[in-house]
Amino acid sequence: MQLSRRLFLSAAGLAAVFGLNGAALAAAEVNLYSARQEALIKPLLDQFTAATGIKVNLVSAKADALLQRLKSEGRNSPADVLLTVDAGNLHAAQAAGVLQPVQSAALEAAIPAAYRDPAGHWFGLSMRARPIMYVKGKVDPATLSTYEALAEPKWKGRICVRSSDNVYNQSMIGSMIATRGEAATETWARGFVANFARKPQGGDRDQLKAAVAGQCDIAIANTYYLAQMLESDKADEKAVAEKIGVFWPNQDERGTHVNISGAGVTAAAPNRANAVRLLEFLAGAQAQQWYAENNQEYPVRNGVATSATLRAFGEFRADNVNMAKLGEFNAAAVRLMDRAGWR
Ligand code: FE
Repeated sequence: MQLSRRLFLSAAGLAAVFGLNGAALAAAEVNLYSARQEALIKPLLDQFTAATGIKVNLVSAKADALLQRLKSEGRNSPADVLLTVDAGNLHAAQAAGVLQPVQSAALEAAIPAAYRDPAGHWFGLSMRARPIMYVKGKVDPATLSTYEALAEPKWKGRICVRSSDNVYNQSMIGSMIATRGEAATETWARGFVANFARKPQGGDRDQLKAAVAGQCDIAIANTYYLAQMLESDKADEKAVAEKIGVFWPNQDERGTHVNISGAGVTAAAPNRANAVRLLEFLAGAQAQQWYAENNQEYPVRNGVATSATLRAFGEFRADNVNMAKLGEFNAAAVRLMDRAGWR
């Protein structure tokens, strides 16, 4: 029984005999509350577990529901990490006191300063832009320039955009307040709303569909929606996307509005060290490439390749306002959009 004895003496053998893996032996785990689609994060979490032996317990739900859950669980929350989209949502979590600051040289080196909270409550893990999209052949891109110019009378009845209760639009207005101030942004918003082709309805994809269906000529939408439609196996979605062009506004000055998906360590994290390791893994070069490619988003880490679909949209200058500003101005943005009649 020489062989089995040797097996019995090795740790790996022990695990094999008792049907345990390394993670279970070490009881190392991390609890992740995620607002992302499970298919778009789970394979990456499996890679993390394979690399570190730390098991990830994944809870997936909508962003608002996860924040409510963290608030009601309070100090007894089992969550270690909150992963969500939009700086507005990350800021709301921070303001609610459910995140704690983290200092990590690896995260600070990997993630540009504009894409993380200066105090370390949250870190951007992917970036999306919200440019102007237009119907090819119907709109000459030479007639487009800035978001600000979309308030001009020539766009009357030609613009589709979703409602003001959506955080993407709130953050876009927040970025404008950060640069132009509240009064100028409100004047602009009144002109912009006056140019809407229809009452805001549906999501970003629906704006592109409405444009191609002839209801409007331009739309505002996040880049990953167009990229996912181009990659879709649904022929009708792909056909819509192929008729849409991307215009990068504000290239001569502040740059095109961008936002992030990101994550932070929760205030009550029982597995804080593992939580930081998970964030550092997600900011690593390999994870950044997989995450950006599979979500059709831009990596936040420099030197990581963008997907071929996104590369085809062309290079652009991104507004480098710190993402924290989008959250800080969120309440002002919501009130301003309401005053401007953006429903
Ligand atoms: Fe989205």
